Amino acid sequence: MSDRTANPAGPKTVAVAPGDDAAPEAVASSMDVLLAMDLPVTFDVLPTGTELAAELAPAEREAFMVERLDAADTVLFGSSNGTTPGIAHLRWGRGTYANVRPVEWRPGYRSPMAHPEHLDYVIVRENLEDAYVGIMGDVDDLRSSGLIGPRARLAWSGEGRYAAKIITREGTEKVARFSYELARKRGEAKGKAPRLTVSAKTNMLPATDRWFCSIVEEVGANYPDVALEQYIVDDMAHRLVTRPDELDVLLLPNLYGDVLSDLGAGTIGGMGLAPSGCYGDDAAYFESAHGTAPDIAGQDRINPTATLLSAAMMLEWLGLDDRAQRLDRAIGEVYAEGRHLTLDQGGTATTAEFSAAVVDRL
Ligand code: ATP
Repeated sequence: MSDRTANPAGPKTVAVAPGDDAAPEAVASSMDVLLAMDLPVTFDVLPTGTELAAELAPAEREAFMVERLDAADTVLFGSSNGTTPGIAHLRWGRGTYANVRPVEWRPGYRSPMAHPEHLDYVIVRENLEDAYVGIMGDVDDLRSSGLIGPRARLAWSGEGRYAAKIITREGTEKVARFSYELARKRGEAKGKAPRLTVSAKTNMLPATDRWFCSIVEEVGANYPDVALEQYIVDDMAHRLVTRPDELDVLLLPNLYGDVLSDLGAGTIGGMGLAPSGCYGDDAAYFESAHGTAPDIAGQDRINPTATLLSAAMMLEWLGLDDRAQRLDRAIGEVYAEGRHLTLDQGGTATTAEFSAAVVDRL
């Protein structure tokens, strides 16, 4: 496999996984921007999913990726449709339990909301548990368990499947502490009293969802300065549209976090604007919140903003705060000016033209 290392100077190393479908286009144009910043970072740009599939046998791909990802300080990951392996390792293998998804409108974003100017909050999605633990099967396997309640028994006359959701005390305490700390940090930066909101289906799922919220409340005893609010998740979905200005940090279990962060992205102007970072105690990786956008692959029209803002979060995590702010500011200026926006934002710029405009602003 060829050596694709770029910008070899510098003490930090970042593995860059371009991913699949349209994601490599967003990653390549983001790399144009990052390399133009002359960062003290060595980038190890890995093959795309298509290249991996062409060059390595299926059994070798995962090991190849894991080795290269682990060799770096952190990772910028383009979305994967399953062809590019590595996400499961980055998430469960490295215990990155807090998925941070900022929802922040900026002038120039094409929001469908009448008043998007107050949209500025962060979703913290628990990243390892809940319905994503992969425990699924046939209901026949459960019939002998003695766990079947009367409602389920009524419905189970024939064929069926189940999926389990698991919430643990340890996992919830960790992500709760992370969220309280983040609320403090944001409160301090904004000069406002810190606020945390937690939401789940507490009324229907007491064993998991109500417990999740009550553990978050317990952890709050160590953060008396942070005001905690709780809402049932269906009410929360409504509030994300009707009263988003009341939010600052919103903590959600995995599945709700996945769904509601797309809703949040919709309110600011779409998936192309939605960055994300996944944090553990000793590791982090960064990827846009959107998928691989297969419908626009190969068209040079994917909006790289989500990838670029994820890269800004990455620079901050690497301790390069001033560079992160510089990148963030340059992106904001391109939107405020409005002359080089991609199709999803009502413009005519290609992916590469948008990135070139960001480079001009740096
Ligand atoms: P996943 O299940 O992995 O989230 P998906 O196919 O459900 O993937 P996306 O890949 O996020 O979802 O795409 C949803 C829609 O949003 C598609 O029409 C896609 O083209 C569009 N989209 C996603 N990301 C971008 C982007 N960065 N720029 C422009 N359009 C995008």
